[in-house]
Amino acid sequence: MSTDTGSSKRIVVVGAGIVGVTTALQLQANGNSVLLLDPAAPGMSTSFGNAGSISMGGVYPVSTPGNWKQVPKMLTDPVSPLRIRWDHVLRNPGYFLRFLKEGAPGRVEANSVAMAAIAQEAMIAHRKLVALCKAEDLVRPVGWLKVYSSQQSFDKTAHEREVMGRRGVNIEVLGTDELRQLEPGLSPRFTHAWHQPDNGFVTSPLKLTEAYYAKFKALGGAWRAEKVQRFVTGPGGVKTVNTNHDIHTCDAVVIATGARAGELSGLLGDRTMISAERGYHLNFEVDVEDTTDGEVPLRRPTVFGDWGFVLSPMQDGLRMTTGSEFAGPDAAPDFRRIYRMAKLVDEVLPGVRTKVNREWVGQRPSTPDSVPTLGRSPRHGNVWYNFGHGHLGLTMSAKSAEVLADLIGGRDPGVDMAPYSVDRF
Ligand SMILES: Cc1cc2nc3c(=O)[nH]c(=O)nc-3n(C[C@H](O)[C@H](O)[C@H](O)COP(=O)(O)OP(=O)(O)OC[C@H]3O[C@@H](n4cnc5c(N)ncnc54)[C@H](O)[C@@H]3O)c2cc1C
Repeated sequence: MSTDTGSSKRIVVVGAGIVGVTTALQLQANGNSVLLLDPAAPGMSTSFGNAGSISMGGVYPVSTPGNWKQVPKMLTDPVSPLRIRWDHVLRNPGYFLRFLKEGAPGRVEANSVAMAAIAQEAMIAHRKLVALCKAEDLVRPVGWLKVYSSQQSFDKTAHEREVMGRRGVNIEVLGTDELRQLEPGLSPRFTHAWHQPDNGFVTSPLKLTEAYYAKFKALGGAWRAEKVQRFVTGPGGVKTVNTNHDIHTCDAVVIATGARAGELSGLLGDRTMISAERGYHLNFEVDVEDTTDGEVPLRRPTVFGDWGFVLSPMQDGLRMTTGSEFAGPDAAPDFRRIYRMAKLVDEVLPGVRTKVNREWVGQRPSTPDSVPTLGRSPRHGNVWYNFGHGHLGLTMSAKSAEVLADLIGGRDPGVDMAPYSVDRF
């Protein structure tokens, strides 16, 4: 971890998801006095329910060339993997126009480069933090697998693999024998696969956030269950952070409130673009035929590319994640798609019987370009932003926390910050 050369500051970090907690830990470890504010307990919001991948190949944006052709399906098909709710588009037309524009080939390339600068440092940054927190057992070096049952289905990933290739992502295209060796429990219907061996797998995203939070607390940091409602500003920036319970004076404030970051940046007069892109999970209790140990016959998170869902063998059961649904953060969840996918588990993992023990929806904090918003407010010298990590918040959290702590500590983070600026839209 880097250490501060400047003097210690009183810093309020707003938001205790994986992004806020890694930021708070990094800043506290640098000698600052950090207060973390969130009405929810650390790690209990979107960071609770993801697929667990620390994705070194997280360099492919959501908006890609030709995306406009899928718009009618996205708007009308309730079980489409990528879905946009009409009312949300009507309330945020600027966001969706920008989202479509970001699909131009030149933009995809630039966005991919900006994503890579954070994602490709992800394992190094998490390894430092898990070593500090003695939580090494939570991150397994097992990679990330994608499987397909036809050449046609596999070929749809050609552009993604090309972009990854240009970023130098380590990809192994597997033959059927290699696939069987890697995951013997998978159905033989899968004839095509690719593997990203450098990805890490977090077997309990909640426990990882809790381990980082426990270290933050041990170093003297504190969390309070409070919701930030307003700021009092003066020359130099924010003077106090006012919550539903208290008023906190500070030298600096970090906004790490995920999909709701637009609410607080708006209060500060900083215009940005952020949308909730919802995703779902079902957690299964598993019963496996012909085995005595009941072990799930899957070793790593696996994407079933024909249908667009992921199965991850988590500590607390088998987790299915799916869906990419642009809707307001308070819209009612729609579990139709994921329950349809749930029927496929015993087809893709023969002999596995499942019983749902949890259904969950989370709000990915997504920007039109899939690039996080990271850096100083253009209006207030002591306000910093760290949000908008979309599909890759678990992955990017540790490195973006490092970058932000460098910036706040007056050090060069070694990253060109222009693509991440809050006012780029
Ligand atoms: C189905 C699914 C699968 C995913 N899989 C992966 C994966 O495999 N790998 C990966 O890297 N990423 C994955 N992600 C993405 C990842 O989970 C998110 O990017 C990440 O959790 C975002 O973290 P965050 O800390 O920004 O947001 P959150 O975890 O949502 O935390 C934000 C916090 O801010 C708080 N807050 C909001 N407003 C206020 C306020 N006014 N005052 C105080 N606090 C406030 C909220 O209560 C919340 O706790 C997945 C996401 C989903 C939905």
